[in-house]
Amino acid sequence: VFCEVTVTGQRLSGGPGAAIVIEDRSRDEETEQMRRDFVANVSHELRTPLTALMGFIETLRGPARNDPNARDRFLDIMEREAGRMNRLIGDLLSLSRVEQDERRRPVETIDIAALLRGVVTAQTGSADMAGVEIEQVGTQRQVMVPGDPDQLLQVFHNLIENAVKYGASGGLVTVALERLEHEPVMRGAAWTVTVADKGEGIDPRHLPRLTERFYRVDTHRSREQGGTGLGLAIVKHIVSRHRGRLRIESEKGQGSRFIVMLPESVGRL
Ligand code: ADP
Repeated sequence: VFCEVTVTGQRLSGGPGAAIVIEDRSRDEETEQMRRDFVANVSHELRTPLTALMGFIETLRGPARNDPNARDRFLDIMEREAGRMNRLIGDLLSLSRVEQDERRRPVETIDIAALLRGVVTAQTGSADMAGVEIEQVGTQRQVMVPGDPDQLLQVFHNLIENAVKYGASGGLVTVALERLEHEPVMRGAAWTVTVADKGEGIDPRHLPRLTERFYRVDTHRSREQGGTGLGLAIVKHIVSRHRGRLRIESEKGQGSRFIVMLPESVGRL
């Protein structure tokens, strides 16, 4: 615990004296440290593609000036690096918007089954390219839940994209929507969406930190796959704004399950 002790010269009521103010500043200190780490991480994440871009610009001006093959290859890499910066900035903006909204409960009601069908359709192209089939269970109906459509779309887009990216070796991703009549944690009826893959899974020691900003199990692989390391942090904040729960289960070699639980009725939000 970090305590700050301030001795003031203030008069205590009823007579002269000194007051000692003891404040528990450990939380402030922790928040400040987290903010510093975040700024350092963002700077580092932005500098990596920027350094690559600057290097290629120099090469294109110099040694590769008259080599059309090298120029095309370098321009492709530069486009990829610029895309990475663009995604990172997009995710940073999403994160800051979600954090601002976190105390405001969503006012709309959406059909979560239709939303899931849409996300799956949108990801079919990249899943095909990765050799992954996306199977749906329980999504062929109408299921209304209180929620922000753009934010929930982002949650399931991120989870399904990760399942396709990191679980590709398993060849199958399942997106299942189920109703739980009495969910003790949610104190009532809830809907769960499970995004499961049969990939290599995640070592249990990483699970508690997976939703931290910029935490990756394998940084190189995440970067190669175009990841920003912010996807699950965004998911966690959005689910929390919806008064829901995110549970992550995984076994090395067996695959992973990301379970989002959402309360059924607006009254309990
Ligand atoms: P990223 O942009 O790196 O994908 P995320 O926040 O979405 O960032 O995920 C954090 C890390 O969690 C990933 O880098 C990856 O190591 C791990 N991860 C996420 N989803 C899965 C999954 N379905 N299977 C295995 N690892 C995963």
